[in-house]
Amino acid sequence: MPIEKHEYTNGEVIVVWKPKLCQHSTICWKGLIEVFNPKERPWIKMDGASTERIIDQVKQCPSGALSYYLNNELNKEINTGEPE
Ligand code: SF4
Repeated sequence: MPIEKHEYTNGEVIVVWKPKLCQHSTICWKGLIEVFNPKERPWIKMDGASTERIIDQVKQCPSGALSYYLNNELNKEINTGEPE
C-alpha cells in the first residue's frame, strides 16, 4: 500500500507531507510558523511565505516527511535528503 501523503500547493510548488515519517522534530514550525502551524487546519498554509522560503524550510526536515516538487516538474519529487 502506498504511504499516506498530503499535498499542499501555492500554484508554483507542491509540498508533500507524509505523516507517518514525521518525527515531530519541530524544525519546520519553529523555522516558519507562518506556513507550518500544527495548531491550525490545514496545518500547512502555502500563502504564508514565498515559494523560495517554503522550499528552504522543507529542505531542513530531517525525516523526509516533507518534500516538494515544482508545478512544472510534476513527475519529479524532490526529496529532503534522508532516505525513506
Ligand atoms: S520538520 Fe519534518 S519531521 Fe520535523 S515536524 Fe516538520 S515535518 Fe515533521
